[in-house]
Amino acid sequence: MSDRNARTTPTIDNPQREAPRRVIEWAQAPPIPPGATGVVTIDLSQIRANWRALAKRVAPAGCGAVVKADAYGLGAARVIPALYHAGCRNLFVATLAEAKAALAYAPGATVYVLDGILPGAARELAGIGARPVMASIEEARAWAALAPPDSPAPPAALHVDTGLNRLGLSEDEFAALISDAELMRRLDIALIMSHLACADEAQHPMNREQLDAFKRMRSKLPKARASLAASDGLMLGKEFHFDLVRPGYALYGGQASPQRVTPVEPVVRVSARILQVHEVPAGGRIGYSATYRAASPRRIATVAAGYADGVFRHASASNETPGGAVAVRGKLAPIVGRVSMDLITVDVTDVGDPAPARGDFVDLIGPDLPLEAVGLSARTIGYEVLTRLGTRFYRHYVDIGD
Ligand SMILES: *Cc1c(COP(=O)(O)O)cnc(C)c1O
Repeated sequence: MSDRNARTTPTIDNPQREAPRRVIEWAQAPPIPPGATGVVTIDLSQIRANWRALAKRVAPAGCGAVVKADAYGLGAARVIPALYHAGCRNLFVATLAEAKAALAYAPGATVYVLDGILPGAARELAGIGARPVMASIEEARAWAALAPPDSPAPPAALHVDTGLNRLGLSEDEFAALISDAELMRRLDIALIMSHLACADEAQHPMNREQLDAFKRMRSKLPKARASLAASDGLMLGKEFHFDLVRPGYALYGGQASPQRVTPVEPVVRVSARILQVHEVPAGGRIGYSATYRAASPRRIATVAAGYADGVFRHASASNETPGGAVAVRGKLAPIVGRVSMDLITVDVTDVGDPAPARGDFVDLIGPDLPLEAVGLSARTIGYEVLTRLGTRFYRHYVDIGD
């Protein structure tokens, strides 16, 4: 996850990946309300298929699922039961509120809380049966304090930092923790985990350094299960799988590793409607601050999607700087001018017959516009594209069974 913004591939013009095999066709299928300006279509059966494909790839290691941030913006209430149905029993969320929701959607699942124990929150976490991922000795103490005399506190996980310097105990702190016999007696550490900084670059030397540090630490807690890899890490090979992998993005169809094609397919399509098509003469200005000037007569479609719907304002285009695009019947039509709150303007001059018309749908994310390309064109990553999807579009869940 080191330098994703600097990726050179894929780009809008050069997606460098084979087109998704399973074209998501259902965006325009009924029952879309006539007043819906856009549709987010989410294929729950494909999320299950993606989970199964990853589970198969890492077996005999186990495969969990990261469902934080409302299942990466796709709707935890629908995604979590689908994953549970596929056999997924280990869920990772960020917060206490997300853990509560996850346990309501998947009673019986083991839910790990990546943000650990906030001051004063231990009792409530234990009360709902969630497992905090403890990242400090203070958190371990707060959890141990819940233990009745002579028995350990409920199972929890331990986050050790192997070089990301984000969350977790350093190797020294870890050594101090495990040498505190009194404290350790009151803890039941079911999982030891760490997180990789550069797993999206298979050749990066940090992968090996972090792997070695993780092996050193986990060997001192032989009874705990161990977890190191997320979506990109699990593509680094068996050595990185340990007992449990924790993919998020890949379940949602994301290609986290630019060098290795993860065996998953897209699950989300986002389409929005054209409100108006008009001809702009040569010299005409388009959008706020008149940042775009038509060099020749252009046909411009105004689409009912803006930054409130998750179209990044960084996807705006001036004459000097190209921005994002939408896909119209398999052709990319560039955004021209500024992205505003509710609207974008796209140049559909070259789309061909029949000319795009009022009420037609265009894709913001879809078979011709993979998440990675959409992220790149807004100077961000597909992860942020997903988690910023707005709530205004009609949400259509598809499930064609196993
Ligand atoms: C978000 C997160 C994951 C999932 O990462 P993906 O790249 O989406 O697979 C795994 N582990 C930790 C600690 C995370 O914060």
